[in-house]
Amino acid sequence: MPSRVYLDHAATTPLADGVADAMRDVFENNFGNPSGAHAEARAARLVIEDARDSIANDLGVKPSEVVFTGGATEANNFFVRGVREALGDRIICSAIEHESVLKPVTRLMGRDFGVTSEGEVDLESLRNAFSEEVSAVSVMAVNNETGMVQPMREIVQTVKAVSPKTIIHSDAVQAAPWLDVKESLDDIDSFSISAHKFGGPKGVGVLVIRTGLKLTSQMLGGGQEQDRRSGTQNVAGIVGMAAALRKCAENRQETSSHVGELRDQLVARITNKVDASYETGNRDHKIPNNAHVVIPGVESEALIFALDEAGVAASASSACASGAMQPSHVLLAMGYSREDAKASLRLTLGPTTTSDDIDFAIRTIAEVVTKLRDN
Ligand code: PMP
Repeated sequence: MPSRVYLDHAATTPLADGVADAMRDVFENNFGNPSGAHAEARAARLVIEDARDSIANDLGVKPSEVVFTGGATEANNFFVRGVREALGDRIICSAIEHESVLKPVTRLMGRDFGVTSEGEVDLESLRNAFSEEVSAVSVMAVNNETGMVQPMREIVQTVKAVSPKTIIHSDAVQAAPWLDVKESLDDIDSFSISAHKFGGPKGVGVLVIRTGLKLTSQMLGGGQEQDRRSGTQNVAGIVGMAAALRKCAENRQETSSHVGELRDQLVARITNKVDASYETGNRDHKIPNNAHVVIPGVESEALIFALDEAGVAASASSACASGAMQPSHVLLAMGYSREDAKASLRLTLGPTTTSDDIDFAIRTIAEVVTKLRDN
């Protein structure tokens, strides 16, 4: 039996095999500034362009459409601010977006649209929020709390039927590790990914900007990334991201079926063992590694803390920004009560999760919940 189990792979993942070696090779043997004019610079440029080709191939986009950023928060902010400055500030997004979309869009006074009780974007609500004047719509491909896959094709059809020129963006951070975005996002104008969610390093990501879409650059300086994102590129990070994405694509089918089976057991056994607990959303439309449950009467914050002490790294959807526990904005948008929206538990599995890990987690969760409820 393990003594500690990590079930927070949606927050971040350990480096995949081969990624640290690929990065070490850059750190030790390829220190040049990719913007320079000499052999050292050319060597650094070469590995970046190889990584760009490989990432573009895995994402189903052109290499020139890949813009390297310092992660997905930057990529999402770049999209929202860049589109506002280029096309005007009528930007709307769904009510369940990550804060890195929600905050810049809300600041621009965009109107958000709702989701169904299962956590899928409600197309009727989108239709109501939408008009021809809207310059851009942003919808995440997979929600980070519930793991629910969003109906991107229907969303694109709904928007383009009214206004073919409206730009559609997707935060694909939680989709990239589990879905083949080549298929699911092939008609999206712009999307963001983050390396540390699929076995790459932190602080590096991509904003895909399709040919023809002009976003105003937010980072001004030396004109790197074809003047779209200035700043010396994170060469080792980019190389690590390309290696991780390749590995992830190679293993996707096998990992998904292994992880999906364990997740199904985990949810079934928690909801069986823990009184009144229930799963959110609709399993048929979730990515395979997400187990998201509500345990009524048990506040997430206390639960996460007690689980950590007992050896299980888990997470809650509710954010504790200022000491006061805030209910999850995602569960509220799905119509949950404030009490239940403060009582969720998110367990996210990864390629290395074993059935011993699941046994340990279930036993620990049941014990900890009993203790908290007895208190
Ligand atoms: N969007 C979603 C859906 C996420 O889960 C995260 C990471 N928590 C981000 C954006 C931000 O990504 P990064 O950590 O690269 O800034």
